Amino acid sequence: MAERILLVEDETGLLVTLEDRLQSAGYDVDMVADGREGLDCALKTDLDLIVLDIMLPSMDGIEVCRELRSKGISTPVLMLTAKSQLEDKLDAFEEGADDYLTKPFDVPELLARVKALLRRRNDPIAGQPILEFGRNCLDTHLTEVRRDGVRLPLSVKEFNLLHYFLMHPGETLSRAVLLRDVWRYPEPHPTRTVDVHIGWLRQKIEDNPKKPRWIRTVHGRGYRFVPEQ
Ligand code: CA
Repeated sequence: MAERILLVEDETGLLVTLEDRLQSAGYDVDMVADGREGLDCALKTDLDLIVLDIMLPSMDGIEVCRELRSKGISTPVLMLTAKSQLEDKLDAFEEGADDYLTKPFDVPELLARVKALLRRRNDPIAGQPILEFGRNCLDTHLTEVRRDGVRLPLSVKEFNLLHYFLMHPGETLSRAVLLRDVWRYPEPHPTRTVDVHIGWLRQKIEDNPKKPRWIRTVHGRGYRFVPEQ
């Protein structure tokens, strides 16, 4: 079955172009031109990916993303931003976007990002298939994390971050290293993105998120995953 993508974009020209190109690439495409409608559609429809503009009527893309994540919807989100300001992108990541593109962009670039996000969602990650820690287990085949056998609603970014920690047990990982390797930021930037995502992960995988057992804060240096003895 074709993968299903929702496009939320209010520039008609761009919307039509993207619809055309994504359909030609073999995807099923839903389209809306309004933030609130986009949110409704994403809540009602089983989607594989959302391409979400930031500047939208009725509700901006960052709010839409925040609402989706707060409702446990972990569908990958590719944000589009008209502004080239870094601030926008950082906001987008803090609200749970998985990737972003700055307008104007080339359509092949968008197609490549879409493909990469879908691949990361669908394909097993190399290495050990199942990593268990306490009541949790990260399953690289299904790209999911279960707690007491129940699937947790993790975004692609949260999954990748947790997987990175599990691949580096006992190492102190700085925010700069995590931004470089998990977010693929080319340059170090002051941002709360890492802390925000770690906060979310702790809510999901820790017995007591205020006194984390697994992902510990190393003051002034970063974070460390402490494996079972
Ligand atoms: Ca727009």
